[in-house]
Amino acid sequence: MMGRMITAVRGMRVWDSRGHPTVEVVVTLDDGTFGRAIAPAGASRGSREAVDLRDGGTRLKGLDVQGALAAVAGPIARALIGRDVTDQAGADAAMIAADGSPLKSVLGGNAICAASLAVLHAAAGPRPLWAHIAATYGCAPSIPLPEIQIFGGGAHAGRRVDVQDFMVMVPGATSFDEALAVTAEVYHAAGALMARRGHGGGVADEGGWWPSFRSNAEALETLAEAIIAAGETPGQRVVISLDIAASEFGRDGHYRLALENRMLGSDDMIALLGGWIDTYAIAAIEDPLAEDDRAGMRAFTQGYGSRVQVVGDDYLVTNAGLVAEAAQAGACNAVLIKVNQAGTVTESVAALRMARQAGMRAIVSARSGETEDVSVSHLAVGLGVGQIKVGSFARSERMAKWNECLRIAADGGAGAFVGGAPLAGTSWGQRDG
Ligand code: PGA
Ligand code: ZN
Repeated sequence: MMGRMITAVRGMRVWDSRGHPTVEVVVTLDDGTFGRAIAPAGASRGSREAVDLRDGGTRLKGLDVQGALAAVAGPIARALIGRDVTDQAGADAAMIAADGSPLKSVLGGNAICAASLAVLHAAAGPRPLWAHIAATYGCAPSIPLPEIQIFGGGAHAGRRVDVQDFMVMVPGATSFDEALAVTAEVYHAAGALMARRGHGGGVADEGGWWPSFRSNAEALETLAEAIIAAGETPGQRVVISLDIAASEFGRDGHYRLALENRMLGSDDMIALLGGWIDTYAIAAIEDPLAEDDRAGMRAFTQGYGSRVQVVGDDYLVTNAGLVAEAAQAGACNAVLIKVNQAGTVTESVAALRMARQAGMRAIVSARSGETEDVSVSHLAVGLGVGQIKVGSFARSERMAKWNECLRIAADGGAGAFVGGAPLAGTSWGQRDG
């Protein structure tokens, strides 16, 4: 397409769901159209993911983004202005070159990620973003299976419990709408259970109920009870999914469960998770071991990878090289895709392609610090990854993403709801033999 050249790149400070500053970028084209995107922010970050540029100091907890905005106004604008907006790979490569550091710490992963996504939005023009993504990357779009948090924990809830996400999936649903409606019943049943027990204490960072529990297992037990209270049988239409985010409390093969005041070795940690898999209808576990525990991740995947989806988040940080290594080593059988971990859309798609080549599943994910930006919904649909994770079933930065998926599904043309297909090969997928 002619005449679709980037003419202006502007950054602005906006605010995320934790009330922290973040970067919004607007990319304008010579035909007057524009694209806009906002960088999200993680709290439990992998050590090898792109680094956000924050100002430091005492104001705004050191989290201001004036340096990142200066990078947008200067080097990033210079790298992008005059480029053909449909050349996403070229735009991303130009920003990577301008940054020049391994983890994008010079211009900031936040500045680069917002700019990369803004280019994607601008390039879409009047087309829905998911359609532009599907066409650009040659993917068959589909409506993904949502993975939705019921209880928050870990770094998202003052470390009240060690495990970060207690989630459900509804692989037995026949539509995205049905999956959300079933989840809503479970979410509210869980809230009612907590209130009845005197634990109605608000929500964690991603909207899941505040985890007033005495142990991680009590949270799991309560989740199973909530599923039953919602009229479902765990393991039938609804399954449980966990993000252990073990890098937050594990290092050098030692795992400190603060709540229970226990120190576990890697093998004990695997045995603990194995016991939960044997007891509860768990179909997926993310970051079961810490990012530095390669042997543990391999052992866990060998032991349980045929029963549960083993997801690498901090372990793989949306990095094609790390995905390839993990596939070779037999660690993980799924990758979480977060654009701001890689830093650009192009690198995120490279990680996804590597996963597909290796026969691994993929899940497009938001971060714990989010905004009204709904790019992740379009990425999940357009890349046809089959699964999406954006937090819980409350707070508008979460609901905006679920609602956007509903709109895309209702508009038609974006393919069918994948249902339980992504969980084929897990204990849920094998339930009928
Ligand atoms: P984060 O958590 O955005 O705080 O890193 C999300 C996750 O671990 O999946
Ligand atoms: Zn995670």
